[in-house]
Amino acid sequence: MNNLNEYLGGRIINVRDLDSDIQKNLLSQGGKKVKATKNEAGTIVCYRCLMPIKITTKCDYCRNCINLGKIRRTDQLVITGTDILFPQQGQYLQWDGELTANQKKGVTELLNAFKHHQDHLVWAVTGAGKTEMIFPLIEQALKQRQRIAICSPRVDVCVELFPRIQKVFPTTSIGLFHGKSLEKYHLTQIAVMTVHQLIRFERAFDLLIIDEVDSYPLAGNLMLHKAIKKSRKKTGMTVFLSATPPKQLLKKVKSKQITLSQLYQRFHGHPLPEPHCHLLFKKIDFLNLNPRIRLKLEQILKNNVRVMIFFPSIPVMRSFAKKLEKFYPQLSFVSVSSQDKQRLEKVQLFRERKVQAILTTTILERGVTFKKIMVIVLNADAKEFSKTSLIQIAGRAGRAKDSFDDEVHFYYQYYNQQIRLACAEISYLNRQVK
Ligand SMILES: [Zn+2]
Repeated sequence: MNNLNEYLGGRIINVRDLDSDIQKNLLSQGGKKVKATKNEAGTIVCYRCLMPIKITTKCDYCRNCINLGKIRRTDQLVITGTDILFPQQGQYLQWDGELTANQKKGVTELLNAFKHHQDHLVWAVTGAGKTEMIFPLIEQALKQRQRIAICSPRVDVCVELFPRIQKVFPTTSIGLFHGKSLEKYHLTQIAVMTVHQLIRFERAFDLLIIDEVDSYPLAGNLMLHKAIKKSRKKTGMTVFLSATPPKQLLKKVKSKQITLSQLYQRFHGHPLPEPHCHLLFKKIDFLNLNPRIRLKLEQILKNNVRVMIFFPSIPVMRSFAKKLEKFYPQLSFVSVSSQDKQRLEKVQLFRERKVQAILTTTILERGVTFKKIMVIVLNADAKEFSKTSLIQIAGRAGRAKDSFDDEVHFYYQYYNQQIRLACAEISYLNRQVK
């Protein structure tokens, strides 16, 4: 019977993928069988992703969630039981860190919202320590033997979060699930996963925590927003975390649909590093490498500074990497992008200080924390960046107590709106701290 753990917990599974014995067992343990499509006001929608299906003679399956396995119109699905009694434990949270006064206030607000099953937004500047703030909330849910999902739209953020959660809840079952993970789904009391994985669940979680709610691919993605709504139990609570919350959420705060905690200060009490702005009179590859950038690279090498360099696109990054190899062979670096299969390993190399620099697209703009680093954005005026992404990128710097004043440098040819607004907002946030 143990292998049922691979299915239980509000999973939506195609009957075609189940052998009949397992199916029978799942149905006897609170599972239900449904048709793969349903009719919603005259539109045929897929039961799993809740998106409309366009049926043609050639295509009778849902194209929206095809990545999670094909669901045909004529299929049947099993929704597995969620009535699970997790073991009672003596102590759940094992963390000896201390919360700042601001974090404590946020925690009180979060616990209060939890008590009232009230959805809540934590708007905290980058490096405010929002992850630590959710520890007491998770503990509270665990004490009530509830089930928790901690989600981010980004795989990298999940991978970073997972060991931190595991470390402070060492006796609780925790799983890490995303499209690139080798770990097969199994029932755990805490699941750390990408928002995308939520499509596979129905009414499964009591506490749903969505980190980086404004980030790609969640921003503006209807299917993922439906998944967030559908995967949580009706009696549960959803917490949204963001340093740059989207307008739609702030509107809900205004209309009192969700409550809000605001944290303007980083956990170490120092202000956010304000970017140094550098106008380039020529492109970054002028004379092979723009002399102003060369100057910065030479300082970096001389002082042995660890550096993250952000690029607007993969081609720009690749061409710059070639120049670096040619002109600065002594600089050890890796470069990563969304298309990079070795991304997680490369990030680890930088984390372990095996390379001095990491070249990256916006894929690492958020969720990752490194100590003592300089942050550089090349072509900060490019359309691939936005005010939000520049704020997030600048927020990678100064995160450690002993290097709160890490430098951030924006290089551009045109001082445009996104650069101006990002710098203005960082400076505004710093002024809010008394
Ligand atoms: Zn679908």
